[in-house]
Amino acid sequence: MAWISEAQKHYEEYVDYYTSLLEDYVDDHILELAPAYGQLQEAAVGYLEEVAKKYVNEQNPDFVPTRRWAKKIQEEYLTKIIPELNLLNAKLQPFATSVICGTVFYGANTTAYILEQAAKCAVTVPNLTASGVLGIIANPWLPDKKTYSDRIRTSVSLVASKSEEVVKELVTKKMQYSDAAKKLSQGIQESYYNASRIIRTEMTRANALGTSYSLMENADIVDGKYRDATFDSKTSAYCAADADYSKRNPYDLDYDTPMNPGLPGRRIPNHPHCRCRWVAILSGLGIKNRQKAALDQYSDLYYTKATSYDEYAKEVGLPSVKDMVNADNPKKYLRPGETLADLNRQVVRKRFNGQIITVPLGLDIHN
Ligand SMILES: [Zn+2]
Repeated sequence: MAWISEAQKHYEEYVDYYTSLLEDYVDDHILELAPAYGQLQEAAVGYLEEVAKKYVNEQNPDFVPTRRWAKKIQEEYLTKIIPELNLLNAKLQPFATSVICGTVFYGANTTAYILEQAAKCAVTVPNLTASGVLGIIANPWLPDKKTYSDRIRTSVSLVASKSEEVVKELVTKKMQYSDAAKKLSQGIQESYYNASRIIRTEMTRANALGTSYSLMENADIVDGKYRDATFDSKTSAYCAADADYSKRNPYDLDYDTPMNPGLPGRRIPNHPHCRCRWVAILSGLGIKNRQKAALDQYSDLYYTKATSYDEYAKEVGLPSVKDMVNADNPKKYLRPGETLADLNRQVVRKRFNGQIITVPLGLDIHN
């Protein structure tokens, strides 16, 4: 049916549009973090200067820095810097929570709207409440039992250990003041990039989760979902491979949600900076070929008819997905607590007692 293929094409075009809006939204929100880090940088370097002055004041030809003296100065510094770090954390946590929470709603609501526009029928918007979404995003369902909140906290406490190290080198004369100040500033800058990366990655997860919830709510008009990966040279090997795989073998609608966790190397996000998203397969439809925005070998935007990453790679002269996967480090797709055996685990999803469960390939279960 021609009309149905048109619907699928519209759906995919809307997904592209709302993904690009989300990217702008992410960039704008990440920028909001910058002043808090700038303030920390200023304070940390200011206190460091005070430490350096103290050193000069105590110094006379006979002055030998004792261990005790050095320790005292270090401790003084830490008592000043720790409240600054607590303040940063106090600013980051509610910021991250509201941005990530908002992104789950964004994913759910845009998906419902897109479905309605493309399928031209009434859809159900998932009944998500702010407290419910907060529960979902705070749920430590990842193998490392950590949430974005723990990760941000860890990133901030890295600044504390870095500061301690820098002050120690300054007071034991292993480092000059100017080098110490530079090193400290760099450490804080890195922490800013770290926090941005965590929030960016979590927003990708939140958008994918919101999308899945909306699709589950409309299971009557959706058959499954596949991964849409960006077509450019920065796309990771496993994302490209899974995009091509899942288009042929779509995932269940609840796949990669807290109730049906995704497999290593086949999750969104798959790794930090992952730019993938889920695309629904509208019921009764084959996937119609459509043109898709991609980057050519000169990084210029063009429209490709390639239906898989592999075809696109051939078109612009990039390595094939198989070559990419072989050259890639598979460990980057693992989360703490997972091993390479998890990545290569051959599993199938089966329905058992009304639920979809993951079982090793070849294991027979009787319903
Ligand atoms: Zn990806």
